[in-house]
Amino acid sequence: MRRIYMDANATTPVLPEVVDAMRPFWSDEFGNASSIHQPGQRARTAVDRARASVAALLNCRAAEVVFTSGGTESDNMALFGLLAPGDHLITSSIEHHAVLHAAEELMQRGVEVTFLPCTPEGVVEVAALEAALRPNTKLVSVMLANNETGVIQPVLELADRAHAAGALFHTDAVQAAGKLALDVAGLGCDLLSISGHKMYAPQGMGALFVRRNVRLKPMFFGGLHERGRRPGTENVAGIVGLGKAAELARKWLSDDVSSGMDSPQGLAALRDRLEQRILGAVAEAGINGGGVSRVANTSNLYFDHVEAEALVIALDLKGLAISGGSACQSGATEPSHVLTAMGLSEARARASVRFSLSRLTTEEEVDLAVELVPAAVARLRELSPKRQPLALSR
Ligand code: PLP
Repeated sequence: MRRIYMDANATTPVLPEVVDAMRPFWSDEFGNASSIHQPGQRARTAVDRARASVAALLNCRAAEVVFTSGGTESDNMALFGLLAPGDHLITSSIEHHAVLHAAEELMQRGVEVTFLPCTPEGVVEVAALEAALRPNTKLVSVMLANNETGVIQPVLELADRAHAAGALFHTDAVQAAGKLALDVAGLGCDLLSISGHKMYAPQGMGALFVRRNVRLKPMFFGGLHERGRRPGTENVAGIVGLGKAAELARKWLSDDVSSGMDSPQGLAALRDRLEQRILGAVAEAGINGGGVSRVANTSNLYFDHVEAEALVIALDLKGLAISGGSACQSGATEPSHVLTAMGLSEARARASVRFSLSRLTTEEEVDLAVELVPAAVARLRELSPKRQPLALSR
């Protein structure tokens, strides 16, 4: 069976160029980057080069990049590194759990936390932030692109308001890195998180941009790695992979329309084709967050009277991998906190699925998905107990 992967927001494939760049650091070049002998120095040079590449992607200084184990650690480092009891944190109700659950834990430790609402399109509004700022607001953390809907947040405006009130600004850019041009100066943020496995580098690898002069309490204690901000022997191969992925992302983002489908514009065209054709073939369906700016690869669609989980499984059986809009926690499937924050009914949130294309997605794959999805939805609707009375009353 032909397998089609449309779950790039969960994880991306590691690009062959990234694997090639990493390979020597698992074998011949196995040195510890802290050792002073030559193998160690070669590892150090590779780490430095990767740091420069990530800095180029973010348009910051190399010394402002801290390598971490991924997006979750970067987010936690930003929040726990800055906030102490008595401080006020403002974040949003549509953040990833890496921020939301960290904020809840901070609340237990005496930090005041405000969760900003969002509009029905999934945008966190500047006016809501302005109303929430307090004299003791130390940090505002709002993501750049939402992982479920792809909706882009007005980070520059939010950061401006935070700064005007004397607070620092962090953005979780995990779902924006490699999809949007990221310029920490242009975005106005003091801290920014990225994750390797959302941008064609390996899982378990990430980075946090920390603006010069922003002091973070370390989360771990040990050696002086990463300028004492994140002790622990560097994951040299992972760092090299992230550096290579950052280089490739920069090149991809700078390609213009002339480079065809393998460009940001090409990806957006594929996503739009997927949406238009599916919605053209299925009634009682629509886009969550479709009326505002989104990253090019993400499409969150609802199909009323269909359980997302059943649709994900039905499509998986046909070879198409997508994801449900709900998270499975402690055995119970909860409707997505993002979609419910947008005001979707629980039923519609449970009827929503996410398609997230990758830079490797082809037009042919989109066309196959466009055949599979309406057929699976129709089949599930036939079986839907909620649909039975309607069918019988006709
Ligand atoms: N932030 C966002 C927006 C994400 O989508 C994810 C992962 O899905 C994370 C943070 C966590 O990143 P990681 O899986 O690298 O820990």
